[in-house]
Amino acid sequence: MIRFLALAVIVGLSACAELGVVGDGTTVSWGPPNEGLLIDGVRLPPAGEGFVVHPRWLARGTQWGTDELVDTIGHVGRAVSAAHPGSRVAVGDLSIAGGGRSPHHRSHQTGRDVDLVLFARDAAGHPVDSTEMRHFGDHGRTVDAGPPLRFDAARTWTVVRALIEAPGPGVANIFLYAPLRDLVLDHARDSGAPDAIVDLAGQIMAQPGDSAPHDDHMHVRMFCSAADATCSDYSVRVAPKKARPTAAEAAIAAELARRPRVGSMLHFGPRW
Ligand SMILES: [Zn+2]
Repeated sequence: MIRFLALAVIVGLSACAELGVVGDGTTVSWGPPNEGLLIDGVRLPPAGEGFVVHPRWLARGTQWGTDELVDTIGHVGRAVSAAHPGSRVAVGDLSIAGGGRSPHHRSHQTGRDVDLVLFARDAAGHPVDSTEMRHFGDHGRTVDAGPPLRFDAARTWTVVRALIEAPGPGVANIFLYAPLRDLVLDHARDSGAPDAIVDLAGQIMAQPGDSAPHDDHMHVRMFCSAADATCSDYSVRVAPKKARPTAAEAAIAAELARRPRVGSMLHFGPRW
């Protein structure tokens, strides 16, 4: 028995000992959403019941998440499929393999964030399977180039309600442009959804104050799983990275460092 336990500990340590994290056989979300990693992540399949990942996002390799996030997407897909047969929610970025920084997002680092493409209807009112993120204005109509579409509050409400009711650690945030959020909540009330669910949806859905308005997609963030002791629910302030100097700037800096400090940098300007 003791030998078995020792083996189990060694196997557990091997995956992530270098990070001081003991793997427990499931995914581990490590750190805050904007400064963290995803350990032993699982990959969302390119398609499943009620959901699909279109080629644009598949090509990025950003389909990695925690068990809980991937399970939640599956739950949402089944809800969409049941309520709106033939519809599939289009899934955008989760995290890259292993998590951490990616070229596309400040967060999405720990396998608990996912972007969902907004559902839309065409001018005749027919549901559209959106394969790209379109921008919607105050009244729920597209404001970018391309065929005019209307925001589909009914299918979006199915997604939001399924996110809230999914088993697991729960959804911490749904970032969505405020006028679209209001359309979703209006639809929820009109369709007779229980007040408690609508109120909770109102608390979870918000337009973030410090990033894009989210008028072209919905960003969903899961709470940490209780099993992931290293996971942090809250983002941290990260100092903006200093841009890499251009060759000319680097040459100026090297020249200034070599010379005695006389005058300002402008003194050398014309030579470069
Ligand atoms: Zn996002």
